[in-house]
Amino acid sequence: MKIAVIGAGIVGVTTAFELAQKGHSVSVYEEHSFCAEGASFANAGVLAPGYVTPWAAPGMPAKVLRYLFSKHAPVRVKGLGSAELKWIWHWLRACRKETYLGQKHHLHRLAFYSRKILHDITIRHRLDYEKTQGYMVLLRGDQEVNLMAPTLEMLKETGNSAKQLSAQEAYAIEPALNTDTKLKAAIYLPDDEVANCRQFAILLKDFCEQRLGVEFKFGQKIAPLQSTHPLEIRTSSGQVSYESVVICTGISSAQLLAPLGIKIPMLPVYGYSISAAIKEPMDAPHSGLMDERYKVSISRLGQRVRIAGGAQIGGDPKGQDQKAISTLYKVLNDWFPSAARHNDNLQVWKGARPMFANRPPMIGETHIPGLWLNTGHGSSGWALSNGSARIIADLMSGLTTEINTQGFTFKKP
Ligand SMILES: Cc1cc2nc3c(=O)[nH]c(=O)nc-3n(C[C@H](O)[C@H](O)[C@H](O)COP(=O)(O)OP(=O)(O)OC[C@H]3O[C@@H](n4cnc5c(N)ncnc54)[C@H](O)[C@@H]3O)c2cc1C
Repeated sequence: MKIAVIGAGIVGVTTAFELAQKGHSVSVYEEHSFCAEGASFANAGVLAPGYVTPWAAPGMPAKVLRYLFSKHAPVRVKGLGSAELKWIWHWLRACRKETYLGQKHHLHRLAFYSRKILHDITIRHRLDYEKTQGYMVLLRGDQEVNLMAPTLEMLKETGNSAKQLSAQEAYAIEPALNTDTKLKAAIYLPDDEVANCRQFAILLKDFCEQRLGVEFKFGQKIAPLQSTHPLEIRTSSGQVSYESVVICTGISSAQLLAPLGIKIPMLPVYGYSISAAIKEPMDAPHSGLMDERYKVSISRLGQRVRIAGGAQIGGDPKGQDQKAISTLYKVLNDWFPSAARHNDNLQVWKGARPMFANRPPMIGETHIPGLWLNTGHGSSGWALSNGSARIIADLMSGLTTEINTQGFTFKKP
């Protein structure tokens, strides 16, 4: 088939790869001048399938309210309009335990499948993208230990080799952790990883271009879709028709689909990362960590350390929230005060997680024949991308998917 993939973030690039592997003729349209310039640019890089969880969870509304006015709140709500209020309404309803458990089950299935595919691709094509092994969740006090107890049980039940560590055991694995900051306990996930999402996307894009004949058309913003018979996309240089079109446009997906009457309840949930060169390797983390109280991750990516976190609903898409950024510095200074060069090529980034209020990503065909969606991967798009891409490529090729797609299919609004 002649297929257009719209969007060259991690989801679009992996989708193009899987489709081209199956022999399709693939063109990727991207409005930026290169791949992975949107949400996939500088995310935390965490690949922890057992830890992938729906954003709508029991206890989350209370947590958001509790921290609403605190200086280092993990979630901030700003300037709410009708779209945000509607999204919050759907989100609140999805925080019910039964909905949460069902969605978590779907996400885990996809995340473990995705990791398996990522490992296969990495080995087969010898890709190197700053991967480090192991992920540690830091629990500052009794409150965090108690809150994490059910998660730890669930991780063990699903066959994960997660284990709770004392502070001393945590220091043995991450010797540069600052002992002046109180650490009650930690959860260690030895099978999990952190890795550079953008670098992987670039390597895979190169492979697609050089070995699979995929055409990447950068600097081409696709206008909202109008025509479905034939399925046409409008670029700056005119209209082109395709047998199939896959929407991988992350947060812009709703806008692209609106003229066709397809409404998807997606909102940007903004977050930040700071990437800095490592000053002294002995003072830096070995791999990935998560400060559970502040929901801030610290990742070792090659010769850099990246601190990421914050979840902002509403507000100016361009402006930066200095309070959220100061929380990232606080967490880095609490745990690894001498790790980073603060004055040398420091990169501060704001990204928008494409987040559905009440469901996992949409992976499948719409009610318009030939129009497919692979979008809405929220806070775990890197961890879910390879699995989602394989599923959509199998479905588009008329093949049976390797995992059950329940929970991911498109439902006509
Ligand atoms: C602070 C932060 C930390 C995160 N940490 C993690 C993590 O540790 N692990 C994890 O798994 N996930 C993480 N995520 C989430 C992850 O980054 C996203 O889920 C993922 O990048 C989404 O990928 P995407 O390809 O769908 O979107 P994007 O990367 O945004 O790609 C969409 C692309 O479509 C293009 N596009 C949009 N509209 C058009 C158009 N009309 N025409 C042409 N092109 C268009 C955009 O330019 C963009 O390049 C994090 C996100 C943030 C913000």
